[in-house]
Amino acid sequence: MATINDNYLKLPGSYLFAEIARRVAAYKEAHPEADIIRLGIGDVTQPLPQACIEAMHKAVDDQAKAETFHGYGPEQGYSFLTEAIIKNNYTDRGIEIAPDEIFVSDGSKSDCGNIQEIFGLANKVAITDPVYPVYLDTNVMAGRTGELQKDGHFEGVVYLPCTAENNFAPALPKEHVDMLYLCCPNNPTGTTLSREELTKWVNYAKENETVILFDAAYAAYITEEDVPRSIYEIPGAKDVAIEFRSFSKTAGFTGTRCGYTIIPKTVKGRAADGSLVSFNKLWNRRHTTKFNGTAYIVQRGAAAIYTEEGQKQVKELVSYYMENARVIREGLKAAGLEAYGGVNAPYIWLKTPKNMSSWDFFDKLLTEANIVGTPGAGFGPCGEGYFRLTAFGSHENTKRAVARFAKLKF
Ligand SMILES: *Cc1c(COP(=O)(O)O)cnc(C)c1O
Repeated sequence: MATINDNYLKLPGSYLFAEIARRVAAYKEAHPEADIIRLGIGDVTQPLPQACIEAMHKAVDDQAKAETFHGYGPEQGYSFLTEAIIKNNYTDRGIEIAPDEIFVSDGSKSDCGNIQEIFGLANKVAITDPVYPVYLDTNVMAGRTGELQKDGHFEGVVYLPCTAENNFAPALPKEHVDMLYLCCPNNPTGTTLSREELTKWVNYAKENETVILFDAAYAAYITEEDVPRSIYEIPGAKDVAIEFRSFSKTAGFTGTRCGYTIIPKTVKGRAADGSLVSFNKLWNRRHTTKFNGTAYIVQRGAAAIYTEEGQKQVKELVSYYMENARVIREGLKAAGLEAYGGVNAPYIWLKTPKNMSSWDFFDKLLTEANIVGTPGAGFGPCGEGYFRLTAFGSHENTKRAVARFAKLKF
């Protein structure tokens, strides 16, 4: 009989969103009249920018005629898109990225999850805690960790706690790590690392020959000057960092699917024979072998965000959500709760009052205010005692939710 990859059995079931759905369904069954407002799931709700829609309609027409038809494209992405990305997000900000250092994909969840395939299995992995679960789970699947411990930590993984006490800026690890995942602006905490903090990490990576896997999915939401939009704004980062970006939150592409990864040719790792090999070369081999390119129509839609109209529309879209973030942040503070994030990210991370557990707070919010959020404990052991609200709802629902918060007694 075929055997299985036993590493998969180390993973707990996808408990978080299933458990949320179960509790909401049970409550609805008992209270069919309840008007539930969902501020839980990290998905956008507003339609795509008009410039993207128009570009995709035109691209559909291209596919209708032999002269303009596109079959398989370059796996790394069409140059009309990669050139626009490089110019707008890098060259214009003083960062040089070569055309063969960018890889377009169907979104950055796949890239963040698959990148570990080009790293050795013996590498020591560090993740911040709490964090987007993809980094950890894919390393568990690959066998780069031991078993899940009773305290919620996987054996063999270095966790970097991020709490209100350290202002959500993790301390450097005490032991050597080879791969380090950073998500900035952060999901779930909605907080960011300053230029100074990121410089500390880039210097650590240079000294320790660590590769930083930098997830910048929410870069478009940064409003403060001191927060780098790209890790390559930090001197030396091109030698140590791989950056992931996505059109999902930037332009509402969660259901349309497009992202990209930057791997400078100067980021290297050691082969078994001791020689240095560029990760760019390995990822190019992987990408061209396992991926056949993002749809032509979708890439046309993505490229449209870099037109003048597109830029304007994307800014409006981001502002729409960031206005919700402001309303939630200020509403929570007015209700006497401690809240973080929401300035450079569409997430607000609140400290549960009176040391309530994050699931108890979930139940209280659901039953007393009919609001659904996400318990922080679902993002890692240090998320316990915190709770995530998202700014991806409509203005109307966001305001209604905040008004309900004002009436809650803690
Ligand atoms: C939403 C999100 C992504 C982007 O995922 P896509 O696959 O591009 O939709 C990546 N990282 C984090 C932390 C996210 O929250």
